[in-house]
Amino acid sequence: MNIVCIGSGYVGSVTGAAFATLGHRTMVLDIDVNKVALINSGKSPIYEPGLDELISAYVGNTLFATNSYDVIREADVVFIGVGTPSKPDGTADLKYIKLAAQDIGKHLNPDKFTVIVNKSTVPVGTADLVATIIEEHSKLQLNTHFAVVSNPEFLREGFALEDVFFPDRIVIGVDNERARKIMHLLYQGILNAQNYDKKSANFYFDYKLDAKRPQYFETDIKSAEMIKYASNAFLAVKISYINEMARLCEVLGANIMDVSTGMGLDSRIGNKFLQVSSGWSGSCFPKDTAELLATSRKYGCELGVVEATVESNLKMHSYVVDKIKRKLQSLNGKTIGILGLTFKPNTDDARNTQASVIIRELVEVGARVKVHDPQGMEMFRKLNSELDITYCDEPLQAARQTDAIVLLTHWDEYTGLKWHELHHVVRTPYILDTRNFLNHRYLREIGFDCEGLGISSSKTSDRGNTIVAV
Ligand code: NAD
Repeated sequence: MNIVCIGSGYVGSVTGAAFATLGHRTMVLDIDVNKVALINSGKSPIYEPGLDELISAYVGNTLFATNSYDVIREADVVFIGVGTPSKPDGTADLKYIKLAAQDIGKHLNPDKFTVIVNKSTVPVGTADLVATIIEEHSKLQLNTHFAVVSNPEFLREGFALEDVFFPDRIVIGVDNERARKIMHLLYQGILNAQNYDKKSANFYFDYKLDAKRPQYFETDIKSAEMIKYASNAFLAVKISYINEMARLCEVLGANIMDVSTGMGLDSRIGNKFLQVSSGWSGSCFPKDTAELLATSRKYGCELGVVEATVESNLKMHSYVVDKIKRKLQSLNGKTIGILGLTFKPNTDDARNTQASVIIRELVEVGARVKVHDPQGMEMFRKLNSELDITYCDEPLQAARQTDAIVLLTHWDEYTGLKWHELHHVVRTPYILDTRNFLNHRYLREIGFDCEGLGISSSKTSDRGNTIVAV
């Protein structure tokens, strides 16, 4: 099929590369000419493990990029994967969706049936809005010349290729029979993972060929739109819940690592999203919970659980700052080294991260802050230009003359640091490991005072790398 993916961000570039890999002629369309040029030169416009290799393997073959909407004329399926950021009132800002819909309308081919697919996370009813805009600008008729389908995306940054090629489920909201058949045909490649083109993409596919066949779930359009918000809010609830349990464990002397392991052994609960942290953040959960809450208020159907989750999450960010305050007393004039600015490892996405909230609180009480992140510093700096902090190329530099090192993101490379070297350069050897990720036993042996979250200080985490220092 001829596919167009509008938007070459975290969703569009991965979706485009995936369908190109499956043999479809795929055009990634973005208004950002730099991203277009990067893809056409065989590079990924975002940091996502494996994506560079995939793009360079298929570009010029089945994968192309452009900033021109002319390509809509040839498309069988058009995915919309543009951003839907929050407006100040919490509702989703649909300006990019509306512009994309207008441009699709202006270029729609009257001699073809085109399926327009909302992959962006959009409020219930957006498919109707997109259809209306396309009709207005094309003067063509919904269900005769085109259909609008909802196909929410569930990929996790850092594991995006795995999630796109081996998803748990594919959700399709559709009310047009022709579009339903086209979508089902399009997804055959992913539903039949054993047919993957292993030769050209063996750097990625080999290890998961025993993966379960994804569930292909068809529903009506509004329910599909809602599934995405309901899923993200539920995951946020899960994280906030375990973080609250971690705070209680700390008071009572229990160990949250064992508590979450014990809970996760119950298949009704499951072990995912039960890892303690300084709170959930990133480009999706904050904006999606905000949209869900704003819409629920608008319709007089308050969501108490989601509201409490958001509040509890903000408390978790502050809890981390309070913990540092308790340890160092006044933070005025103290230097804090932050390791990790992205909301999770293996991404450069630094939008809306807990680090920005925590660092802001630290700076407000007079602390000097030095930061390091393997991939996220450039975006973090751009989005938080008002923050007067020091960006460091190496963790060692971020640790120099600090009164506390705070690990916020569990990048693998932080377990492998030469922690004894960091111990030599800090002013006060104190580490707060907000992910219980490092090997606390080892860190204590080499002289650090090391704390995690949800573990009383008499207990230790011996996760992480034991062969650290050479
Ligand atoms: P992004 O900001 O990384 O990418 C959006 C891209 O769209 C940008 O490159 C931008 O230049 C381009 N764009 C904007 N308007 C355009 C237009 N009119 N025509 C062509 N290109 C245009 O966003 P993202 O993180 O990929 O998210 C996209 C959507 O997918 C959002 O609704 C998000 O909530 C949802 N989503 C994101 C993730 C994720 O992990 N990032 C996961 C699931 C769902």
